[in-house]
Amino acid sequence: MKNKKMMIGRYSFDEFIDAAKSFHGYPAPGIIVGGIMVDLAIENMPEGVLYNALCETASCLPDAIQLLTPCTIGNGWLSILNLGLFALSLYDKHEGKGVRVFLDPVKMEYYPEIKNWLFKLKLKTEQDKDLLLEQIEEAGRNICGIQTISIDNKYLGKNSKGAISVCAKCGEAYPQRDGAVCLSCQGKSWYISSENMQE
Ligand SMILES: [Zn+2]
Repeated sequence: MKNKKMMIGRYSFDEFIDAAKSFHGYPAPGIIVGGIMVDLAIENMPEGVLYNALCETASCLPDAIQLLTPCTIGNGWLSILNLGLFALSLYDKHEGKGVRVFLDPVKMEYYPEIKNWLFKLKLKTEQDKDLLLEQIEEAGRNICGIQTISIDNKYLGKNSKGAISVCAKCGEAYPQRDGAVCLSCQGKSWYISSENMQE
């Protein structure tokens, strides 16, 4: 039953597990399933199209996208819209047309360990990680659904920060459109204290 020829991008299944380990810290099931999903999405994009990625969860899947596509959080080609869905889309960055890949619970009936993972039916400590990875490899794209999508125009194009000013309170550079002082000085920071370490 084992699909020995399965590739995830340029990686074999086992190579991708290693890549996930070094990039993500450990080979989380979500990044391995995610890799299969991203690979399917890439294959359904027309050749030569410059695409952006939209990820509908903040967990694991963004790292699969960053491992397998040119889209990263840092270069702005990957956006996370946390809808709580384990799904992603790739779309033409100018036209907004593309494909969305999601996990289909109906197709998961044949792969109970994957279902246990997605629906958190077992405690993490009770998870059989080897069996789970085995079923992920066996299932491959069988647990995925795919759709064509079109992105709303207002989310396409460059997201410019506009003019930059120096914050009157902290003295750091910030986008002027945020207000009279930076967002941090407006109380949006997570820090409860901060002190400069050098003169
Ligand atoms: Zn400030």
